[in-house]
Amino acid sequence: FSTSKVNLKDLVWLSARSFPPCMGRLHTSLKQQHHLRHWGRMQYGLFLKGIGLSLEDSLIFWKNEFTKKMNTKTFDTEYGYNIRHNYGKEGKCTNYTPYSCSKIINLSSSPSEFHGCIFRTVKHESLALKLETVGQDQPERVQKILQLSQNKHFQIACQQYWLLRHPKETTGEPISTLTGTIHPNSYYNNSIEYYKR
Ligand code: SF4
Repeated sequence: FSTSKVNLKDLVWLSARSFPPCMGRLHTSLKQQHHLRHWGRMQYGLFLKGIGLSLEDSLIFWKNEFTKKMNTKTFDTEYGYNIRHNYGKEGKCTNYTPYSCSKIINLSSSPSEFHGCIFRTVKHESLALKLETVGQDQPERVQKILQLSQNKHFQIACQQYWLLRHPKETTGEPISTLTGTIHPNSYYNNSIEYYKR
């Protein structure tokens, strides 16, 4: 995972530019709802840890949102422990790693939750709308992603989505062939490298 650090203030633009769509969705949902349910907090919290958000900043980040709906004491009691736990500071002090795509794809979810892989959980019409918005100049790739998604090739769809969002990538190769197996954090790391070139 990333060895560099991420500043709290940079999460807004980073989430829009370089987060994989599953994490971008969780970020937006958290900002809108001021809450995420258990698996959303786990999926997103461990991803943020993996990109280099410190425990201190993570506590501030979640607290800022959750305390728009609850008081600080409730947050500290019910949620602070789990955040510290994810960073290996509570319980068995295990250093938990970010979830892989296959783990995320296989999480079950309800309509009131926002975790999971968007290529599996988001309805075809909504996915088409989102892709058509971000990929107006690449209609063929949009159709390819929708087809891959319908055929349950979720990770290949996501590789194509990365190429859609990083259009100057000249190799045209899916990112798995550039970096090994796709992972939400490798999606992010590749995006960071892309913008350094
Ligand atoms: Fe996230 Fe992986 Fe699904 Fe892409 S394939 S949206 S990185 S879970």
